[in-house]
Amino acid sequence: MAEKKPARMSDADLKFFEEMLLEKRRQLVTAQSESEKANVFQGQKAQAGDGADSDSADSATDYNSLETNFSLAAREGKYLVYLEEALTRIRKGTFGVCKVCQELIPKARLIAVPTATKCVNCKEETKKKEQENNRIEMAKLFAEEQRKEMMRKNAGR
Ligand SMILES: [Zn+2]
Repeated sequence: MAEKKPARMSDADLKFFEEMLLEKRRQLVTAQSESEKANVFQGQKAQAGDGADSDSADSATDYNSLETNFSLAAREGKYLVYLEEALTRIRKGTFGVCKVCQELIPKARLIAVPTATKCVNCKEETKKKEQENNRIEMAKLFAEEQRKEMMRKNAGR
């Protein structure tokens, strides 16, 4: 009995998505080096204002924008990892195959989300399971709170 051939995208499609991912990565890296430049600028400004008259409101603003830049960089960094992983999957030929059901992910979805590793159905399933788990966690927390409340009431008697 012949084994079922695993789903695989055509070479032309893989090539198409590889170019798309490479372009996205290029854009991201450019954007990152620009936000680094912005950080350097922030640093210079902070040094220039390093006097006794430095305004606390000003430094709070600087801190906030620095923090924004940082979380932005972290998010971009994570996305860059996803892009790299997608490029690895292209090289292996597993790109565009749902990692749960092993079926091809529709191209329209990949064009919208080229880093997707699951088809919409499986993603919804995962989300439902997560929500179910969250509900169970919440119910446990609630029961625990009620138990504590009972103990407080009993102790106060
Ligand atoms: Zn699937």
